[in-house]
Amino acid sequence: MTGLEIMRVLRDEMQNAQIPVLEFSPVVELLTDPTGACAGAVLLNLDTRRHVIVHAKKTILATGGIGRLHIQGFPTTNHYGATADGLVVAYRAGARLLYADSIQYHPTGVVWPEQMLGLLISEHLRAKGAQLVDQGGERFINELETRDAISSAIIRACTAQGRGVPTPGGRQGIWLDTPLIDLLHGRGTIERQFTGIHHRFRKFGIDVTQVPILIYPAQHYQNGGIAIDGRSATAIPNLYAVGEVAGGVHGRNRLGSNSLVDILVFGRRAGRHAAETLTPAWPEPATLNHLQEYHAELERLGIQETPPAPLLLPDYGPPARAEAVR
Ligand SMILES: Cc1cc2nc3c(=O)[nH]c(=O)nc-3n(C[C@H](O)[C@H](O)[C@H](O)COP(=O)(O)OP(=O)(O)OC[C@H]3O[C@@H](n4cnc5c(N)ncnc54)[C@H](O)[C@@H]3O)c2cc1C
Repeated sequence: MTGLEIMRVLRDEMQNAQIPVLEFSPVVELLTDPTGACAGAVLLNLDTRRHVIVHAKKTILATGGIGRLHIQGFPTTNHYGATADGLVVAYRAGARLLYADSIQYHPTGVVWPEQMLGLLISEHLRAKGAQLVDQGGERFINELETRDAISSAIIRACTAQGRGVPTPGGRQGIWLDTPLIDLLHGRGTIERQFTGIHHRFRKFGIDVTQVPILIYPAQHYQNGGIAIDGRSATAIPNLYAVGEVAGGVHGRNRLGSNSLVDILVFGRRAGRHAAETLTPAWPEPATLNHLQEYHAELERLGIQETPPAPLLLPDYGPPARAEAVR
C-alpha cells in the first residue's frame, strides 16, 4: 500500500507536468559518446518489436532488482520485471558493480499453495506473536531476529537438520503459527489487521485463523548493484542509478523498510544533480561502440555469454520440446 501511494503521487506529477512516457518499451542497451559518457538508450517496443533510439543528455536507471533470476532456485517476492536488466546494460557500458554476490532473502515467503509461491508474508505477523515452528512443533529461532538470521535458521532447519515440513508440491517449509495471533490478541485480530493475507489464503480453502501456514525464505532484495556516489552518479558520466539497481547504499545487508526511503532520497538526489549539471550541448554522436570493447574483452578472456541479456521478462513456459531444440 505504501508503494501504491508513492506511485500515485509520482504518476500524478508526471501527468501534470506532461512528461512523455514510453510504456512497454524496456531498455535493451545504453548509448555512449566517443568519450564514454552515456548518451541515451536503445529501447525495444514490445508491441511493434521495433527498437527506439532515445538520445539523452542525462540518463537515470531505475530498473529495480533481480529476484526473477531465482538465484539457487529460490522463489521470489519480486515482480516479473525484476530480471537484472539495469545491471547488464550498465556493466556492458563500463559501470562498476558492487557486492554482486549479496542477496537478501525474506524469511517468510509462502511455500504452499504453489500458486502463492514466494508471496511475502509481512514481518508484522511475527511482531504480533506468530511463531515459527518445525514439523515437531518446536521453535528454533527468535522470530524478531534480523531477516538474514531467521532465513538461514529456516534453511538450516529444512536442509541440514531435517526439521522441515514436506509440502504436497515436493518442497520443504516451516510452520508460521498464525492462529496464535488471535489467541494472543482476541478473535478477529487477523481478519481486521491482516485482511489481505486472510483473503488470499481463503481462496485456496486455507483459514489462517485456524491453521498455520507454510513458509520458506524467498529471494527478496539485491543488496549489491551499480556503484554510485552520494549524488547517485555512476562511474559513467551522465549516467545515474537509483533504487534497487544501485548498490552499496545499505552495504551488504539491509534492515526491513529502508528501501523506500532509499529510493526517495537517492531518486531526488539523482534528479537534482542531473538538472543542475545539464549543458545546452547534446552529446554527439551516440553509438554502441562500447559493445565492441565488451565483446573483445569476452573473447580475450574466453568467456561465452549464454542466456540472452537483458532478459526483460522471465520465461516460465514449458521446457522447449526436443524437435524445437534440434
Ligand atoms: C513484496 C515486497 C514488499 C516490500 N515491502 C517493502 C516495504 O514495506 N518497505 C521498504 O522499504 N521496501 C519494501 N520492499 C522493497 C522495495 O519495494 C523495493 O526495493 C523498491 O520498490 C525498489 O524500487 P525501484 O524503483 O528501485 O525498483 P522497482 O520498484 O522494482 O521498479 C523497477 C521498474 O523498472 C522496470 N524495469 C525492469 N527492467 C526494465 C527495463 N529493461 N527497461 C525499463 N524498465 C524496466 C520494472 O518493470 C519496474 O517497473 C518490498 C519489496 C517487495 C518485493
